[in-house]
Amino acid sequence: MPDDAVRGFARAKGGGTWVVDLDGVVWRGGEPIPGAGEAVTLLRAAGGRVLFASNNSSPTLEELIERLRIAGIAAGRDEIVTSGMAAAAMLDPGGQALVVGDDGLMEALAARGVHATRATDERAGGGPTPDAVVVGYTKRFDYDVLARVADAVRAGARLIGTNEDAVLPSSGGLLPGTGAILAAVATASGATPVVAGKPHQPLATLITERVERIAAVVGDRPSTDGELARRLGVPYALVLTGITARAGDELDPAPDFVGKDLLAVAEAATRADAASR
Ligand SMILES: [Mg+2]
Repeated sequence: MPDDAVRGFARAKGGGTWVVDLDGVVWRGGEPIPGAGEAVTLLRAAGGRVLFASNNSSPTLEELIERLRIAGIAAGRDEIVTSGMAAAAMLDPGGQALVVGDDGLMEALAARGVHATRATDERAGGGPTPDAVVVGYTKRFDYDVLARVADAVRAGARLIGTNEDAVLPSSGGLLPGTGAILAAVATASGATPVVAGKPHQPLATLITERVERIAAVVGDRPSTDGELARRLGVPYALVLTGITARAGDELDPAPDFVGKDLLAVAEAATRADAASR
């Protein structure tokens, strides 16, 4: 690995916050990735903090905390941000949203004070036009749901996507991601969606509101994690445990550092930290 990359991490030493992706970094599919827990322990022991930033809006905070615990990581509610929270932050408290998405997105909207109705609810539609249609990841999506939310968007609701990831890594291969669902809604409604999650500004704002100084963004997907790092003006560490199987010249943005997994990133960072003392 180039020395420059390690020096880049050295600059981030001493109490900075590591913004760490979840899917493809801490777990893949439902399975913890070996060494992820040890990696977080190392970063924290070196004086760093960790903020987990996920584009997956499906799980609730309690579910994420439990999955992290299984991966060997103790995390509090204030150490997690999701694309669902970023989408919710784009709406005013008291507003109305029609939702294609799972419990985590509903929870984030409720926490914001938004009145959210699931588009799968038979009673959805027919009433006043909601302020927004919010689209997140879910497996509960069919033609009737598409028709209902496209109607609402054509009637004037904003179209907000939690994220636009085309595919989702799972233990059985790649699954269609939120971007695929969002594209269907955009096509059926003729609207251009605004996107809340990585690498877009709403989630970046959520992060900068919580974190004083960012050490680096760590993630498996250059188009989201890498672009987020670029937007935040911080180093990007790519891990090869998720969507990106190998580092190559074609990656854009090019990572500042490549580790085979989160543990390799943490070890390099803490080594660089120690070497620079
Ligand atoms: Mg990922």
